[in-house]
Order: sequence, then C-alpha cells, then structure tokens
Amino acid sequence: MNSKAQSSFRINLHELPRRAGEMREYTLNFPAPDSIGIPLLEIPKGEKLDISFRAESVDDGVLITGSIASIAKGECGRCLDPLAVEINQKFQELFLYQSRVSENPDDDDELFTLDGDVADIEIPIRDAVILSMPINPLCADDCEGLCAGCGEKWRDLPDEHSHEAVDPRWTGLAGWKPE
Ligand SMILES: [Zn+2]
Ligand SMILES: [Zn+2]
Repeated sequence: MNSKAQSSFRINLHELPRRAGEMREYTLNFPAPDSIGIPLLEIPKGEKLDISFRAESVDDGVLITGSIASIAKGECGRCLDPLAVEINQKFQELFLYQSRVSENPDDDDELFTLDGDVADIEIPIRDAVILSMPINPLCADDCEGLCAGCGEKWRDLPDEHSHEAVDPRWTGLAGWKPE
C-alpha cells in the first residue's frame, strides 16, 4: 500500500502471478509529485497524470507496457506565449526479478529491478514524457515569433511593419550612390 511518504510511481504488483504469460491491467491517476519535462515545457507539479499499463510476467521479471497522458505547460520558443501541450506517450520497461540481476552484476546500471513486489516506474515515465516533448515547443507551427527590431509579436503587428529607418550615422550619405 502507498503510504504518504512513498512515491505514487511505486506500483505493487503482488496480484500478478509470477508465471510467464500472466497479465494484469493497472490504471493510476495521481497528481505529479514533481514537475516532469524540459526547461521550456513541463508537466507542472500537481498536474494530473493518467497512467495505464499492462504488467506481464515473463521469464526474468515483469514487462510493463502502457501509456502516460497529461498536460504539459510552457512557453512558445519563438514568441514566448504560454502554451499547453497534450502528452500521450507509450512506454515499455522490463523489471527484472532481483534474483536475475545478481547473475549479471555488470549491467545493473541499465536495468530496472523489482523491489519485492514493487516496480518503480518513475524513471520510465519521465523518460517517456521527455521523449514525447518537442525540443523547441511552438504555439503554432507557423508562429512567426517576435520582431527583432522592437520585440513585439509579428502576429500583433501590421503587415507593413518594419524598421527600415536609416541609421542616423549614415544620413549624410543618403544621397550618395555608387557608380
Ligand atoms: Zn509562438
Ligand atoms: Zn518591430
């Protein structure tokens, strides 16, 4: 059972028989205990996470296959407007029985292990969410960003907007034309 001090990402799989081929479905809904994402875009702390997955007993452990859905918030990389992006990403991870891990002590780092009946899916979920995020999030694919001259949004500026005013240092040459 989850106590308050325990991560909501720690899933107790005691109902899943440890016989290859056995499966159980799980659905979890809980607020993100911490933000998940990249600097420009993240699922904020407290935002609802909808996680559903299937846990399947395999020879070496439990294979977890599922999806995570939530809303990420951030700002447009071009115009800095706030934006919200729907996250809906699949993930899959094998959690080895502890007895199997000790057979391969060299590659412990890359492996996820069951802690008794418990699988901690936080890292697979974080990886899946980050993988689903655009590197440069935009409010719209065709966002024109900000005018380099005045910092206003091109969307809000008239079509003829420009900063072609001649640099005052050059006004003396305004009438000069190369031959
Ligand atoms: Zn934008
Ligand atoms: Zn401008």
